[in-house]
Order: sequence, then structure tokens, then C-alpha cells
Amino acid sequence: MTIYNLGSINIDHVYRLAALPRAGETLGSLDLRLGLGGKGANQSVAAARAGADVVHLGAMGTGDDWVLARLAAAGVDTRAIARLPEVATGHAIILVDPGGENSIILHGGANRALPENLLTQELAAIGPGAILLLQNETSLQPEAAAQAKAAGARVIYSAAPFEIAPLRAVLPHISILAVNEIEARDTFAAFGEDLPIDGMLITRGAAGAEYRDLRGGPARLQPAFQVRAEDTTGAGDCFAGWFAAGLSRGEDIATALRHAAAAAALQVTRKGAGDAMPGRDEVMTFLK
Ligand code: ADP
Repeated sequence: MTIYNLGSINIDHVYRLAALPRAGETLGSLDLRLGLGGKGANQSVAAARAGADVVHLGAMGTGDDWVLARLAAAGVDTRAIARLPEVATGHAIILVDPGGENSIILHGGANRALPENLLTQELAAIGPGAILLLQNETSLQPEAAAQAKAAGARVIYSAAPFEIAPLRAVLPHISILAVNEIEARDTFAAFGEDLPIDGMLITRGAAGAEYRDLRGGPARLQPAFQVRAEDTTGAGDCFAGWFAAGLSRGEDIATALRHAAAAAALQVTRKGAGDAMPGRDEVMTFLK
């Protein structure tokens, strides 16, 4: 079944500097690399590389066509990505010093100005069995979640970046909440442990992941695979995308978790976020 992902699309600009700039200082950059990022785009790429049928619902400015080409090359259906004139494509300015310390500016741009017709036209076909993925980097989250739930679809929400108000707005409409350890703690502090949802996916970095069934089923623990981590940016998105892809193929929770953990282990051995998502064949080979 199809995965619809209403999600952010960012261009990561990674500048390598001799030092992080101080107030009032102008510094030359040693190197600039552009990469595909944004939690939404990362999850779409991860799920598509996992073999799922993924429609990305989102928005960009009018330039930056390479981003669409890269999403399409990963197998993501890009027809529901609106092009907005006079709005910047979402982007992150990432400054990195020789010690790996960084400073980041995030500009939501088009991600925070999604047109309503994404819901009235592109999400109109969603129905039972389909999955809606959401993260907290776009506008229209509660509206999309309510519409998908009313249509009988499953809604998986990544509460990142963590904010209480958006989570409160979507909580009545979601099936599975996907969080890392810190976001899980913040969620329990704000809403208690008795959430009105089917389950929670909690990832714990190198300590693995857990699926908590909140309808009385068994908890499932998934250890992380031991690898040499190079760059863990996007690991949670890789895990969430692969997990959703597993559910969309009808896999049981334990299988979806195992595949997602293997995919995330491969992903952290590579630099980059969206560009580092592994393909299905690689993951199956890794698991042999
Ligand atoms: P986030 O990126 O959202 O903070 P986590 O850091 O919890 O997410 O990582 C998500 C998943 O990625 C983990 O559950 C694990 O399966 C995998 N992972 C992350 N870091 C490592 C690591 N150092 N070694 C192996 N797997 C990792």
C-alpha cells in the first residue's frame, strides 16, 4: 500500500571553516557541500529505497531542480511537490569547524507554507491500508493527520523537532508516534505514559530501538547492529522510513524493526542524510 509523506524538503549547505565565526567576524569557507536533507525528504528516500511506493507531499521554491531529480532517482513520486514562487526552498546552513563542532541555521521556507490543495487534491485518494507519514517541520500537520485518520489510513508521526503544541494537535489522529530517547522523555513529561495511540517507536541510538504496543500487545526490542559510525545525521529518519515501508508491505513489527535497524546501521557508516539511505539489496546482503 502507498505511503504518503507530508514532509519537509531541505537543502543542507555544509560549510567547512577553520573556526566557527564570532559576532561581527567574516570568515572564508574552506569547502561547501550541498546535500539533500529535511526530515520529510530523508524519510521519503529511506522508504522508497526500502522498496515502498512513496508519494511525497511538500513544497519548494522554483529553482533547485536537482532536488526533485534526486528524490525521483531514489524512487519517490514527486508529482505532489508544489513549486512556490517567491518562497525559498527550505534549507539548513551548517557550519563545521575542524573539531567537528557545528552551528546550524534552519530556514523552513516553503515547508512552512504548504498549499491547502495538497490535502484537497493529492491526499484525497488516501484510504484504509495506506500510511501517512508526518514530521514536525511543515505546516498542515493536524489537518493532514485528521483527514488521513478519517479516511481509515494509519498515521505515523515523528515528533521532531520536539514541540508540545504541534504534538498535542496531532495526537488524537495518530496511530504510531516515532521518537528518539530524548523526545520520548519529553513526550511522557508533557502527556503521561498513557497515550491515546496504538504504539510508540522509540529509538535509542547505538542502544537500539523499541516498539511499545499501547493496546496491550507485547513490547518488541531491537538491538542496534554494531558498526563504526561516521555520521549519525538522519539515522532516526532512516529508521522511521524503513519501519513505515515494512508496515506498508504487511511485515510484522519484529521484521520491520530488524530491517530498519540494519538500514540505519548502514546509514550511519556514511556521510550525509538523505543521500546516505541504503537500498533494499544492500540491507538484505548485510543481514545474511
Ligand atoms: P535520531 O537520529 O532520531 O536521534 P537515533 O540516534 O535514536 O535517532 O538512531 C536511530 C536508529 O539508528 C537507532 O535505533 C539505531 O538502530 C540506529 N543507530 C543510530 N546510531 C547508531 C550507531 N552508532 N550504531 C548502530 N546503529 C545506530
